Amino acid sequence: MTVDTKTSLCPLCKEIVAVGASRCKHCHAEISAPKKKFISDKLNNFKAGFYAGVLLTLILVLFFYYKFIL
Ligand SMILES: [Zn+2]
Repeated sequence: MTVDTKTSLCPLCKEIVAVGASRCKHCHAEISAPKKKFISDKLNNFKAGFYAGVLLTLILVLFFYYKFIL
C-alpha cells in the first residue's frame, strides 16, 4: 500500500483518507489534525494575544494621556 503526500492512513481502520480530514470516510472516526496545523494554530493564538496586548497598551496610554496631560 502506498501513501502519497495527499493521503494519510486512518489510525483506526488503516484505510486511506485525505490529509487534513477531520473524520475518516470509512469508519467515521475522528482524526486528530496534523501537528503542523496545530503549531500554526498556536502561533496564530500567540499573534492574536500579542496584538490584543498592544491594542490594550495603546488604549491605556491614550487614556492616561487625555486624563493627565491635556
Ligand atoms: Zn477509519
